[in-house]
Amino acid sequence: MYDVIVIGTGPAGLSAAINVRQRGGSVLCVGTALENNPLLKAERVDNYLGLPGMTGKQLLDTFLDHAKKSGAEFLQERVLNTYHSDSGWMVSAGSQVLECRCLIFTGGIMRGKPYPGEQEHIGMGVSYCATCDGMLYRGKNVAVIGFGPADREEAEYLEGIGCKVRYFEKPKKVEIRGEGKVSSALVDQEEVAADCVFVLRPSLAPSSLFPELELEDGYIRTDRMMHTNLPGLYAAGDCTGRPLQVSKAVGEGLIAGQQAADEAKKMK
Ligand SMILES: Cc1cc2nc3c(=O)[nH]c(=O)nc-3n(C[C@H](O)[C@H](O)[C@H](O)COP(=O)(O)OP(=O)(O)OC[C@H]3O[C@@H](n4cnc5c(N)ncnc54)[C@H](O)[C@@H]3O)c2cc1C
Repeated sequence: MYDVIVIGTGPAGLSAAINVRQRGGSVLCVGTALENNPLLKAERVDNYLGLPGMTGKQLLDTFLDHAKKSGAEFLQERVLNTYHSDSGWMVSAGSQVLECRCLIFTGGIMRGKPYPGEQEHIGMGVSYCATCDGMLYRGKNVAVIGFGPADREEAEYLEGIGCKVRYFEKPKKVEIRGEGKVSSALVDQEEVAADCVFVLRPSLAPSSLFPELELEDGYIRTDRMMHTNLPGLYAAGDCTGRPLQVSKAVGEGLIAGQQAADEAKKMK
């Protein structure tokens, strides 16, 4: 049981984690591979106070180093589900289920829309987790849609357990087809037979992780203390709205981290 789990390891999540540690709480940060983080694409960041001229990668490495030194724990996984319980939150990440008193969501924004056919086939041949669902498709055709080099490893894992894998990295167009169950995927003009399409998108829409979460214009609604409408759930960073900038993400992460740590302490 952690005091706090932070979903997302961008600037908001790392700032939240450091501030939980500063208040003496235990914290686990669960995030997808850092190579997926949008800040890595920034060639030069000039508007972060005190550290002008860094590349996005240098800035993120600096934040990560600070968070690790603070004693935050890390798990590289995609969070797929969450459940609220009497004692706090349960988080399903890859094949693990983790528990915490308070939860902070800092998943950034989902870039790109779901593919045609994706949402209607969730659980009927669309999966977001190779480790969780791969065994169901041993000996069967699967298509894997990767978003970065780390996703190739998930395709190799599926191959290793006996799936017949076609791997596509960052295709321009995808359509998932089938009547009821998935039967094929159209990927950049090529139709491939598939019993399952693994979509390894780095970010999931917050509404799919928290069906009761209140949104406003597509962003998570919070109060000034970064509390959402759900008990013990805080949100920070790009996912709460504009401006989509590092300083704002770091500031909101600080508030969410302090608040969540205090709430977790009271729950003990
Ligand atoms: C090209 C470019 C240039 C930019 N330049 C600047 C600049 O000069 N100055 C500036 O201030 N800002 C800049 N930004 C914006 C800045 O990158 C963002 O504002 C900042 O990264 C937001 O931080 P965040 O922590 O809220 O979200 P993010 O950095 O998006 O981090 C969220 C993380 O959560 C992970 N995640 C999401 N869902 C899940 C899940 N279900 N399970 C596990 N992990 C999950 C994501 O993979 C991601 O790594 C730039 C952005 C881009 C793309």
